[in-house]
Amino acid sequence: EEEWQAVREKHHIIVEGEEIPPPITNFQDMKIPKPILEHLKRNGIKRPTPIQIQGIPTAFTGRDMIGIAFTGSGKTLTFTLPAIMQALEMESKIPFVRGEGPVGLIVCPSRELARQTYEGLQAMCKALKEGGYPELRNLLCIGGINMADQGDVLGRGVHIAVATPGRLMDMLDKGRLNANNCKYLCMDEADRMIDMGFEEDVRSIMSHFKYQRQTLLFSATMPRKIQDFAQQSLINPILVNVGRAGA
Ligand code: ADP
Ligand code: MG
Repeated sequence: EEEWQAVREKHHIIVEGEEIPPPITNFQDMKIPKPILEHLKRNGIKRPTPIQIQGIPTAFTGRDMIGIAFTGSGKTLTFTLPAIMQALEMESKIPFVRGEGPVGLIVCPSRELARQTYEGLQAMCKALKEGGYPELRNLLCIGGINMADQGDVLGRGVHIAVATPGRLMDMLDKGRLNANNCKYLCMDEADRMIDMGFEEDVRSIMSHFKYQRQTLLFSATMPRKIQDFAQQSLINPILVNVGRAGA
C-alpha cells in the first residue's frame, strides 16, 4: 500500500474512494493482448501516462470511476482499452449475432471527438484481428453520417459504439440500436457535455440500460456540476485526479 502511494505521489495522482486498485507501472501489467501493445508501441505509446497508471487498473475493476486529467494526457486509452477487453471477453463467451450489442458505449460531446475516438478503437481492433483475436465491430453513431453505410456492422452486432448524445438517443428511441447488452458506459469530456446542455440526453440514454452498468466519467476539470452529476449517476465511484503539477 505504501509503495502504491509512492507511485501515485510521484505522478501527482490523487485518488478517492474505497478499495482502490494498485497503479500499474507498464501496460503488460493489465494482460492487454500483445497485438494491441505492439500497435501502441508502433505509435510511440510505450509507457502509461499518469491518468493511465491509475485509471486503467481502476476501470478494469469494473467499478464506476471519475477520471480527471488535463487535455492531452491520454484519457482516451484509459477508457477504450477496458471497453475492448470487456467486448473481447463477451465475444469469447457468446459471439455476437445480428442486432445485438453494443457491450460498450462511449459518448462524446462532438462529432470530431467521436470520430477520433472511433478511429483509435478501429485501429486497435484491426491489430487484434490481424493478431488472431476475434473481430470486434465498432459503430460510429454521429449526426451527418448515413447509418445505412454502417448497416453491415449494425446487422452483424456491434461491440462498441462511439456516439454523440443526440444521434445516440435518436437511435435508441427508434430501436435501431439497443442498450440491452450494454455494460459499460463512458462519458468523455463530461464537463463540455454538461456545458453544451447534453445532461438530459445523457440521462435519457442511461434509462435505456437494462443491466447494471459500469459508468465512467472523464473530464479535464471537475466543476460542481460534474460532481453533482457523478453523485446522481455513479455508484460508489473511484476518483482518479491527476494534478497539473509536474506536468
Ligand atoms: P486527452 O483525452 O487526455 O486529452 P488523448 O487521449 O487524446 O488525451 O491523448 C493525447 C495524445 O497522447 C494522443 O495523440 C495519444 O495517442 C497520445 N498518448 C496517449 N497515451 C500515451 C502514452 N502512454 N504515451 C505516449 N503518448 C500517448
Ligand atoms: Mg480526450
